[in-house]
Amino acid sequence: MKVFTLSPSEFAFGFEGCKKCYYDKIVNNLKYASFFPPVFSLLDICQKKYYQGKSSKSISENLDEGVVITENSDRIIKSETLYDNKKRPFILRGKLDAYIKHKNFYTVVDFKTSSMSLDKAPMYSAQLHSYALMLENPSDKEKIISPVKTLGLFCFSPNQVIDHKKGSNTFQMNARWAEVKRDDKGFFSYVTSVLDLLHGEIKAVRNPKCTVCAFVDRHLANEKKQS
Ligand code: SF4
Repeated sequence: MKVFTLSPSEFAFGFEGCKKCYYDKIVNNLKYASFFPPVFSLLDICQKKYYQGKSSKSISENLDEGVVITENSDRIIKSETLYDNKKRPFILRGKLDAYIKHKNFYTVVDFKTSSMSLDKAPMYSAQLHSYALMLENPSDKEKIISPVKTLGLFCFSPNQVIDHKKGSNTFQMNARWAEVKRDDKGFFSYVTSVLDLLHGEIKAVRNPKCTVCAFVDRHLANEKKQS
């Protein structure tokens, strides 16, 4: 049976966004190259650099005492082979922004530069659970980081410029912590529905709200009319 490698960051907007594009990307290696503004990567680098080695309390007073680790965020982590609820194998592979080392456990942290309302945090539950499982069950057994008890998003959104000097502005960001409850049972049900799609058990339908396919369809219809 084919072993699919799933990327945690592609659940929220890939699988949830459009089943057809998600299927084509993973099964047919057909990728729509969208533009990702480089400013987000730059903000991400600054945030990770600042929080490396800081106390967990710098993220939220609600977190247990611990140390934030961002220095491995460039490293690709791969899980060992895991199995969904129908015993189909899959592998999780991706990069984790940060984790917190507490006395007896770990917290997974994903940085988001977004002003999203915190009740949208569960949308990222599968991504956060993937990171937890990758840390606890890595393909390289010497790199086990376990147990992961807490998961959450650390969300930044630009607020105002508070100072300026020649050639340099100081920008203030709102920063909020949104915890997501660990629920491995829910995660494995979710991955089972992802693998149902990839193994062809459910149809890969287009997102009717996407304007790209609608544009291509109209374009092709026009061409047909003119020929
Ligand atoms: S509807 Fe949009 S997202 Fe879906 S297959 Fe078409 S281009 Fe891709």
